Amino acid sequence: MPIRPENKHRYPADWKLRSLFVRFYRARNHCEWCGAKNGEPHPITGSKVVLTTAHVFDHRPEAASLLNLAALCQRCHNRHDAKMRQAGRKRRTLESVGQRDLFGANDEN
Ligand SMILES: [Zn+2]
Repeated sequence: MPIRPENKHRYPADWKLRSLFVRFYRARNHCEWCGAKNGEPHPITGSKVVLTTAHVFDHRPEAASLLNLAALCQRCHNRHDAKMRQAGRKRRTLESVGQRDLFGANDEN
């Protein structure tokens, strides 16, 4: 998932280095969850794999510990982030009409 412009300042200054380390050194160019190889057709979807760096346990951009990051293919990353994205869309919709979700999760995306 591309970094949202309004969140860019929340990533550490060395984010690109961390992301490169996780995807290409630690994960050796493979999805750390399903094993799909970067640049190759995904074994399930058939689409070209483009590894991304995901926040696994803590979704906040500031939570950039290497233990919280994983190299994931689009399929694994989208499945992992789906619930958080849905909550973010709901929050942004409410904010656009001047309301807040008093009982929602404190997601940041
Ligand atoms: Zn995967």
